[in-house]
Amino acid sequence: MDLRFSPYTLELRHAFGIATNSRTSTPAMLVEIEHDGINGFGEASMPPYLGETQETAAAFLAKADASIRGISDPFQLEEILPAIDTLAPGNTAAKAALDIALHDWVGKKLGAPWFRLWGLDPKKTPVTSFTIGIDVPDVVRQKTREAAIYKIIKVKLGRDQPTDEMMIETIRSVTDTPITVDANQGWTNRDEALRMIEWLAVRGVVFIEQPMPKARLDDTAWLRERSPLPLIADESCQRLGDIAALRGVFDGINIKLMKCTGLREAHKMITLARALGLKTMLGCMTETSCAISAAAQLSPLVDWADLDGAVLIKNDPFDGATIVDGKILLPDRAGIGVRKR
Ligand code: MG
Repeated sequence: MDLRFSPYTLELRHAFGIATNSRTSTPAMLVEIEHDGINGFGEASMPPYLGETQETAAAFLAKADASIRGISDPFQLEEILPAIDTLAPGNTAAKAALDIALHDWVGKKLGAPWFRLWGLDPKKTPVTSFTIGIDVPDVVRQKTREAAIYKIIKVKLGRDQPTDEMMIETIRSVTDTPITVDANQGWTNRDEALRMIEWLAVRGVVFIEQPMPKARLDDTAWLRERSPLPLIADESCQRLGDIAALRGVFDGINIKLMKCTGLREAHKMITLARALGLKTMLGCMTETSCAISAAAQLSPLVDWADLDGAVLIKNDPFDGATIVDGKILLPDRAGIGVRKR
């Protein structure tokens, strides 16, 4: 099995602001594996605040190359992917790129999309939210108008209280579409966080993602007992092993391929979360249609999706899952459902 990888810079349509920073591009790594005349595509997307870079991804993939070359049976994902995971700690986006490429290869070899291999109904894909980052009112109004086809708007909050209220009031001056809020750990005082959630609850907000810093589970549990809205873990929930400790702290989890090493672990996380009574959400970074279409294969299983990553970039090299009237549409193509443009 041959492995190829090349750095790729995702160019964003708009500068994207969250609680702690703002940016106009995202470094990525495109991965391709080839075996028996079939190519599998994968991708690592690496927003700088998560700690991976094109250099660390290239170093990890070079290290994984020997394991990939030695694969005799690519169908043994339960053997191959845990072995790749143990090559080095971290590197979750680089690991996800290999996981996605292997899944794409296996699906193509079998001639079936992964939603079919998992037994899922493609009509049950959820609607996806469209994310509006922190910005000045004119830009927020413009982005809200551009989001007219979406049934849910996701808003980044958590910089400070006047900005939080401005963001919500600006969006509400344009539309009454339901809103989900992502505070990105930005609320550090639990009493103030509760007052903000109560203010949001009467303004058509559906849930709150990561209200407080990721390690502050006691404060988050305090908040959850009093919160009129469900709380969803994002930064507090990276991988399968994190979920058990979140029961009673959050109402649900946001699963992202780039955090959890890919489709194999994401599928297990959905199963465990549901067994524990937690709601599930599939999220993304800014990504091409490669990683988005991979995640979309799992989307009929989850309560909410935030898979707008490919819509936010202007140089997507792939065709894959699309968004029609705000709902995810899975192409009837084998593997993860993508082809090169
Ligand atoms: Mg988030």
